[in-house]
Amino acid sequence: MEKFSDFRSDTVTRPTEEMRRAMFEAQVGDDVLGDDPTVQKLEELAASIMGKEAALFVPSGTMGNSIAVKMWTRELEEVIVEEKSHIYNMESTHMTFISRVTPRPLPSKRGALDPELIRKHVRLPSVHTPRTSLICLENTHNNWGGAVVPLETFQEIRKVANEYGLKVHLDGARIFNASIAFGVPVKEYAKYCDSVMFCLSKGLSSPVGSMLVSDRQTIDYARRLRKALGGGMRQVGVLAACGIISLTKMVDRLKDDHVRAKKLAEAIHDLPGISLNPEEVETNIIIFYFNHPRLTIHELLGKLKEKGVLALGVFGGVRLVTHKDVDDEDVERAIKAFREILA
Ligand SMILES: *Cc1c(COP(=O)(O)O)cnc(C)c1O
Repeated sequence: MEKFSDFRSDTVTRPTEEMRRAMFEAQVGDDVLGDDPTVQKLEELAASIMGKEAALFVPSGTMGNSIAVKMWTRELEEVIVEEKSHIYNMESTHMTFISRVTPRPLPSKRGALDPELIRKHVRLPSVHTPRTSLICLENTHNNWGGAVVPLETFQEIRKVANEYGLKVHLDGARIFNASIAFGVPVKEYAKYCDSVMFCLSKGLSSPVGSMLVSDRQTIDYARRLRKALGGGMRQVGVLAACGIISLTKMVDRLKDDHVRAKKLAEAIHDLPGISLNPEEVETNIIIFYFNHPRLTIHELLGKLKEKGVLALGVFGGVRLVTHKDVDDEDVERAIKAFREILA
């Protein structure tokens, strides 16, 4: 079978040899009973890297975000989200389904919410309106093409949150990409947030898993919520062992993904039909809008696939993501395919 150059997502990354060995050798126990030493090690490591008291290993980023919204809110409350955010658009509406709160989507500048706009939308409880209780941020911002939300935005939003007694949750699925791109330690972003979720299973290449970090008491409560949602896992040290490698060995290499995304963006941005500013490609995600006299997005994706290149259609555009399992040759192959199809 021909090997595809798979740019659909960084979730397609396979575990490394070292991870497979670590899974084989992992010490395990029943984690629901608090007996898995490898999970405990991962949770301590994740908390310390984020500068928080405690962490919880969860099966997916979506479950981490679901738990976060639930732990910070009650019914009849409202949550401020960015309008293109993953938590609002791509997590099957858990805000209404699980937490029974109303999302209040606000527009942003490439994922960075305006603190003054947030201030205008904070609602105090009345007989007519829900109380605003939580602000959700996302960094890097997936649907804004992996844009990095500046640290100043976090600082200013924290001030607004403090003024009104709101909590701040960060969907940091790719917070390590933001950190590597801008040279800001992840702790710095986390400092302005009450909780952070981040994924081990994307660019960090673990097969499964995400982390939720916060203060100890909140994580104790989050552990109960995880169980209630069916996310209590037993000898899950086999997966936590991979997570430890993600955090200790797989962070620095994210910069290679950023270089490759930039190179690919620069090579294709001026081809017919593509609208893309390569300067806006800051991390490992490229989203371009496509309007071509002969080809629809669907046809473009089909022709790319014929040439061995996989990409994903998103919101009237095309998404390409670089990661551990696409190298310079894959990038060259993609560039050549785009040129042959569009030039
Ligand atoms: C992937 C992703 C998630 C959720 O991760 P899953 O593990 O797929 O549930 C959350 N937020 C963002 C921004 C993501 O890209």
